[in-house]
Amino acid sequence: MSSTTPQNESDTAAEVRPLREMLLIAFDEVALKRGQRARFIERLRENIIAQAGCSPKRLALRHGRLELDLGDLGEPESIEVVRSLSRVFGIKWIAAAEAVPVSLEALESAVVRCARAAVAGGARSFKLEHSRKNKAFPVQSQDLNRDVGALVLSEIPELRVDVHNPDLLIISEVRRDQVTVFAEKQPGPEGLPIGTTGAALALLSGGIDSPVAAWYAMKRGLQVEYIHFHSPPYTGLKAQEKVRDLVHALNRWAPDSARLFLVPFARIQEAIAERAPSGYWTVLQRRVMQRIAGTVAEQNGFDALVGGDSIGQVASQTLSNMAAIDAATPHLVLRPLLGFDKVAIVNLARRIGTYDISIRPFEDCCVLFAPRNPAITSDPAAVNELEKDLGLESLIETALRESEWIEV
Ligand code: ATP
Ligand code: MG
Repeated sequence: MSSTTPQNESDTAAEVRPLREMLLIAFDEVALKRGQRARFIERLRENIIAQAGCSPKRLALRHGRLELDLGDLGEPESIEVVRSLSRVFGIKWIAAAEAVPVSLEALESAVVRCARAAVAGGARSFKLEHSRKNKAFPVQSQDLNRDVGALVLSEIPELRVDVHNPDLLIISEVRRDQVTVFAEKQPGPEGLPIGTTGAALALLSGGIDSPVAAWYAMKRGLQVEYIHFHSPPYTGLKAQEKVRDLVHALNRWAPDSARLFLVPFARIQEAIAERAPSGYWTVLQRRVMQRIAGTVAEQNGFDALVGGDSIGQVASQTLSNMAAIDAATPHLVLRPLLGFDKVAIVNLARRIGTYDISIRPFEDCCVLFAPRNPAITSDPAAVNELEKDLGLESLIETALRESEWIEV
């Protein structure tokens, strides 16, 4: 007997159509932030609407999760929506789901549909998990597992039960107003919704590290914009384009497209190279960057700066040099990559889509004015003394005057 041509009612599940086909969106720590919960969820909703391009009407908060009604969206569009959601910080997982009426027939129908779809995708073993939140539902979870399991086996001969390592775990949740059935969960990026913890200005170099640092800042809910120091005529348009492309790649993880503040840095570098010993070039340049970034942060309401330094990766990234660099501004400087080694950073850069841009062979400004032997320790008194001779005030003023915000 073919499972699609029932002989009588008891052989096969009566087909009950779903109330809604949807994506279930589970959030991460959002759920834990007691007093802030409503604000965090509202922000997550807004970010989902912006990043997945969906109508607010389709997104509802039910049973502690967001449900995105797919309506008559086709499969390619739905896949695109899932892809966008996988870049929305705050989401823990996403699953395609059906909401069906609260009845055993509807539950069975939905489970069988879900299993059939998975078999078409190659699944050969399954396990059921029922959660009966609605205690008025007449069938106990254990009985549901047994009976619905048997029904799946009889309807879909290709499938067998595997309770330890199933290809497919089908979950059904029985609530008061609906039964929700879903299978595969796709992981989200976790973290906190962007815009819930403040705003930061990330120093973006064009290297591998700083985009990853900015990504981590976003992951912690910060709204990030970017500042880049470039050195025409020493650096060309390609180097600038590379940084724009990095911002563009990072914007895919954010609800709004962030801007880039471009600062011409060549004259400052020339002044440093002319008047200071080469061992101090790197620290002096980084101190000026930090000062300028601090001023821009001040004028634009950013709460912190973000840098891509990690400890000991290059000679200039010693505690002593970092202390000298931080002393240049009163601003909080976040360095999300402090504890990461290069392999981990490279892997993450690949995952978030910045690596291939970062490795384009266009030098950023610092490589050109990098000493062969940078000082490993910075004597604060010496640094202060050296800076007195550089005429930095007016150089910084000019650089800021010639800087511009760019929409990417
Ligand atoms: P990256 O891979 O991000 O370039 P790095 O390993 O080359 O980092 P450094 O050159 O010591 O390390 O720079 C440390 C951090 O200083 C960078 O991660 C970035 O945040 C900031 N920085 C360096 N150069 C620039 C620049 N031209 N514009 C903006 N920020 C910069
Ligand atoms: Mg670099």
